[in-house]
Amino acid sequence: MRVLVITGAGVSAESGIPTFRGKDGFWRNFDPAKLATPEAFARDPKLVWEWYHERRQRIRNAQPNAAHQAISKLAQHANEFLLVTQNVDDLHARAGIPKEKMVQIHGDIFVTKCSRCDFRRRDYEQEHPPSVAAATYGAAGEHEQRDVVPRCPECDALMRPGVVWFGEQLPLNELRRVENYFDRGRCDLVIVAGTTATFGYIIDWALRASRHGGELIEVNPEETPLSQFATRLVREPAAVALPLLVNQLIEL
Ligand SMILES: [Zn+2]
Repeated sequence: MRVLVITGAGVSAESGIPTFRGKDGFWRNFDPAKLATPEAFARDPKLVWEWYHERRQRIRNAQPNAAHQAISKLAQHANEFLLVTQNVDDLHARAGIPKEKMVQIHGDIFVTKCSRCDFRRRDYEQEHPPSVAAATYGAAGEHEQRDVVPRCPECDALMRPGVVWFGEQLPLNELRRVENYFDRGRCDLVIVAGTTATFGYIIDWALRASRHGGELIEVNPEETPLSQFATRLVREPAAVALPLLVNQLIEL
C-alpha cells in the first residue's frame, strides 16, 4: 500500500500545543497570526523570539499523543509512506516517524536560521533539556534564554526561527520531496487529519495523490473545503479517530 498522510495543528492540539486559532492561541494578548510574519520580526525581533522560545519550551514539555502514535504505526505497515505535516513541532519524529518519511512543509521550530545568509543550525540539542531549563530559568513555559535574539556567527545579521511565516514561500527542497513522492506513483490511501485545509496546496496535494481511485479520508471534527472531495469523513478529533482507523486499515 502506498500512503500519504497530511497533518495539521489539530493533531498536536491534543498534546497541549495551542493552535493559532481562537482565544486559546493568544499569547500575552497578541494574535500569533500577526507575530508569525516577517513584518512582526522586522518591527520587534525580541518579542517574536520570546514567543518562539516559549513555544519551543512548551513543545519540549509535551508528549506525542495517540494520533502521532497511530500515524507512526501506519508508516511501519505501509509499503511506501510519506507524511506531510504543517506542524513545526517534533512530535511526529518523537513518535517514531523517520526523517526520510516526513516533510515539515512549514519548517522546524527548533531550527534557527540567519535572516540574511544561508547559515542555519538546529538548536534542540544545544539548548537545555526541560529539567535544566526549569532549574535555571524558572518554571517551564518561561522563555529559555535571557539573551533572546541570536546573531549569525557568519555575518552577524539577526537569526530567526526556521519556520515559514505568513506570506512566505514554502521551502523549495521540501516541495521537491513532495513532488518526487507523487512522481513515483499514485497513492492507494490519503489521510488528511487535523487540518482545516485552508491552504490551497493541501487540497491540491490530497486530490492529486488520491486521483485514479485512491481513498481520501478526512479526519476533522468540522467540515472543511476538502470534505466535499473525501471518500470517507471521520468527524472526530485525530487522537480519538486515528488509532481506530489505523487498526482497521492494517487489518484490511
Ligand atoms: Zn548570516
